[in-house]
Amino acid sequence: FIEINDIQKQFLDKDNKAINVLTNIDLKVEKGEFVSILGPSGCGKSTLLSIVAGLTKATSGEIIVNQSKVTKPGKDRGMVFQQAALFPWLNVLENVTFPLKKEMSKKEAENQAKKYLQMVQLSNYLHHYPHELSGGMQQRVAIARALAMNPDTLLMDEPFGALDEQTRSRLHGQLETIWTETKKTILFVTHSISESIKLSDRIIVMGTKPGTILQDIKVDLPRPREQYKKEMLEIEEHI
Ligand code: ATP
Ligand code: MG
Repeated sequence: FIEINDIQKQFLDKDNKAINVLTNIDLKVEKGEFVSILGPSGCGKSTLLSIVAGLTKATSGEIIVNQSKVTKPGKDRGMVFQQAALFPWLNVLENVTFPLKKEMSKKEAENQAKKYLQMVQLSNYLHHYPHELSGGMQQRVAIARALAMNPDTLLMDEPFGALDEQTRSRLHGQLETIWTETKKTILFVTHSISESIKLSDRIIVMGTKPGTILQDIKVDLPRPREQYKKEMLEIEEHI
């Protein structure tokens, strides 16, 4: 469903020297698969997600999503950024309805937005502006915005990193429900091994210098998720 074909990415440093950030990234993700991406800081996880989203151009290689080549962002792929990236001049409700308005009437957009804002427990903050919210609340608005678009594919870059334990585990439950009910394909970047084992059915471990895929681990249920101790230790060596 998502094909990442031999992706390379270079950035130019201040002396115009090419720095390899990603090399030979090949990854196929099935429709409905929930794939976590783990790896040390700077290994290129956000860059890879941004390439799949169509926001960053790869130096070479191609991304195919649902049989078409990705050249730009599209509403089939919802993205939650590592930093919330809200529009500062729009309030919470407007931030979530903004991308919906092209798809439906204002009333429908507002109803849809409210449904997801309720899910992230922000119903009492509809008319607040981003600067009036905590970092975790802003992140929850960003999550509601991505979910409200109802994309086939969700690209989530450490979406729960800024949240407290209680909110995080509640949103874990809600994401799982959404995933099983709507058969979304999810690429989920996280720093937490336990989070990846809890949520996903496959874990990709990336290494750095330059970013490559080191491990591709299936979390095969019905084996209880608690029994992934050996894999956890293996992953820990890399991150
Ligand atoms: P973290 O876990 O800290 O979020 P990451 O795995 O998401 O890290 P990236 O943000 O993808 O890492 O960055 C990978 C590398 O690419 C880093 O060395 C970073 O400095 C470099 N990089 C990312 N974006 C740019 C850019 N726009 N210009 C130059 N270098 C960049
Ligand atoms: Mg990152």
